[in-house]
Amino acid sequence: MRTCAHEHIRTLPFFETSIEFLKGVGPQRAALLQKELKIFTFGDLLQHYPFRYEDRTKFYSIKEITEEMPFVQLIGKITKMEMIGLGFKKRLVGHFSDGNGTIELVWFQAIPWVLQKIKPGIEYVVFGKPNRFGKTFSIAHPEIEPVSMRSEKEGFLQPIYALTETLRKRHIDSKVISKLQHEVIKSSQNHIHETLPDYLIKKFRFLSKREAINNIHFPSGIESLAAAQARLKFDELFYLQLRLLKMKLVRYEKFKGQIFSDTAILTQFYKQHLPFSLTEAQKKVIREIYNNMKSGHQMNRLLQGDVGSGKTIVAFICMLLVIGGDAQAALMAPTEILSQQHFASLKKYADAMGIPIGRLTGSTKKKERKILHEKLQDGTMKILVGTHALLEEEVKFHKLGLAVIDEQHRFGVAQRSKLWQKNTELYPHVLVMTATPIPRTLAMTLYGDLDVSTIDELPKGRKPIKTTHQFDSHRLLVNAFVKEQVERGRQVYFVYPLIDESEKLDLKHLMDGYESISRAFPEYAISILHGQMKPEAKEFEMARFVKGETKIMVATTVIEVGVDVPNASVMIIESAERFGLSQLHQLRGRVGRGAEQSYCILLTSFKLSADSKLRMATMVRTNNGFEIADTDLKLRGPGDLMGTQQSGLLDLLIADLGKDQQILLQAREAATEILKNDPELKNSEHQPIKNHLSSLKKTVVNWAKIS
Ligand code: ADP
Ligand code: MG
Repeated sequence: MRTCAHEHIRTLPFFETSIEFLKGVGPQRAALLQKELKIFTFGDLLQHYPFRYEDRTKFYSIKEITEEMPFVQLIGKITKMEMIGLGFKKRLVGHFSDGNGTIELVWFQAIPWVLQKIKPGIEYVVFGKPNRFGKTFSIAHPEIEPVSMRSEKEGFLQPIYALTETLRKRHIDSKVISKLQHEVIKSSQNHIHETLPDYLIKKFRFLSKREAINNIHFPSGIESLAAAQARLKFDELFYLQLRLLKMKLVRYEKFKGQIFSDTAILTQFYKQHLPFSLTEAQKKVIREIYNNMKSGHQMNRLLQGDVGSGKTIVAFICMLLVIGGDAQAALMAPTEILSQQHFASLKKYADAMGIPIGRLTGSTKKKERKILHEKLQDGTMKILVGTHALLEEEVKFHKLGLAVIDEQHRFGVAQRSKLWQKNTELYPHVLVMTATPIPRTLAMTLYGDLDVSTIDELPKGRKPIKTTHQFDSHRLLVNAFVKEQVERGRQVYFVYPLIDESEKLDLKHLMDGYESISRAFPEYAISILHGQMKPEAKEFEMARFVKGETKIMVATTVIEVGVDVPNASVMIIESAERFGLSQLHQLRGRVGRGAEQSYCILLTSFKLSADSKLRMATMVRTNNGFEIADTDLKLRGPGDLMGTQQSGLLDLLIADLGKDQQILLQAREAATEILKNDPELKNSEHQPIKNHLSSLKKTVVNWAKIS
């Protein structure tokens, strides 16, 4: 085996050497490290950075210990070991004394191993969280080590590594990982190459890559740790941005765009049919899109704007530009209902302008389809609105100039690119619309390869939704309010948390809620909607509510994003503490679409965590989606914010998109600058970047999701 190992090491780059061949690992531990931590190679290990550090300079005396201390470090001896209790309460207790007081060290597991290793009378350093039982303190499963074993070199900032239960059971703790890090660092010094150009290192006064790696695992002090973190976070974000921007650049150069610059038709619409004056934000966004569409480069743009900010008219105006250039436009929505609503609002404008518009969904009849297909192909049909039925093979355009995609997160990127291919000569311009506000820094990463336009202003004269927070105990008052609103002709949503659609308990919660609401309002027709219903049943219930046949909608979060029921003016969110901020804001956006004053009532239990209180208070304080998204990003981090399907994209090793926004901006700026001045990375000073890019096999970004 070992000879193989050496050959193996010789032929592969150092950091790709299998972890099995590190001193102190071997096949068994390698298998564990691979399975539990996804550490396969030397490089993986080196990049398994500590997630926190503990201060080990301070020793406490046992007399000083209080319950509030998160950790204490003690020095002393075990005076006696004994087994106490029976069955699952059976435990090993070591009475530990430092001469001034005693504390109990307790082990529930791995008792034979402890008995073999830990002996009375030897001087130990003990570390752990103190718990209090009556008058005595104890530490369960302490870290314990003979004083004689402590090396002088051990820094006072002890790295703590992410571990799993299985690893702990097999006695692989942070100390063990640290020893392995020591081994790998010792032999890798000559292999760690600089990854940033010299001038950036000087500009930001960064540590060298090698120093940073050494210090992240073995910091010599607080300052050197901070310096190492700053350097490695920058590195990570810089390469992330560089790759995204490169992708964008390649596309920009490779894909020529159809040129649409004739604004005569726009002027006509503005003069004769524009039903209101556009907001400044809408104008700004239209200018950005116009500049893009006349540039000769294909547009790939994300249009984000809070619910009700007026994205539809922006989309229509862009369609006009394309139609003025003798091409066609398509809009794809994720559901039948949404496509119906888009169709209705676009048709109003299109009819006024005398522009032919059609709709295509899964339920479009065969005969109609045939006619549609023909009109699309001969170019007489100018605008097509629909669901993913648009993507079908038979749907061929004469000349597709613009594809608008609503609610991006429901469509895979694969579908986005299918729409592209509807025009094989020149890809159509693509405008992706989303009502989920994303903080700028997050958008830069999630949509780093797209251009982003933002409508950050609502039309004037909107009545802001009034949001209140109530405890469950006030339910009767809430019901009375609901009754009053329905009597006035309004409609009401009750939303229940159903985070995981398979949760039986949550479903029961919803059904119980439905029953008690039915009992409280026997005179009204009530709709119910949840994820386990068949799609047709869902559409049916939703349609009844849209038509006003039912007054109350009891639902989980499946109620459509973007569905417009202007008459629904009250949103009651049950167990609101269980929702994230962004989700609460999304739900609230279902109301406030008509002329009437709208209300959102957040119902929670009385006992709330500090986080939940902050979320409720934020919702009550502001209607601004971007402010809410920012708070959410800081509270929960990016993974949660984007939901599980996107989180893979954000598996960063050390940087945190919530906390490190400043570094991200610097990294993005540096990457932009470099690609602007030296897109091919030909300058010798950019050689380190070139080298590193080609060695970056291990992707931190799930490219399939965005490319
Ligand atoms: P969203 O961005 O959520 O898709 P919509 O495009 O559906 O928003 O617009 C919401 C409502 O606001 C629509 O009734 C629309 O006609 C209206 N609207 C859009 N822009 C303006 C504006 N500049 N002034 C007044 N009303 C507007
Ligand atoms: Mg909309």
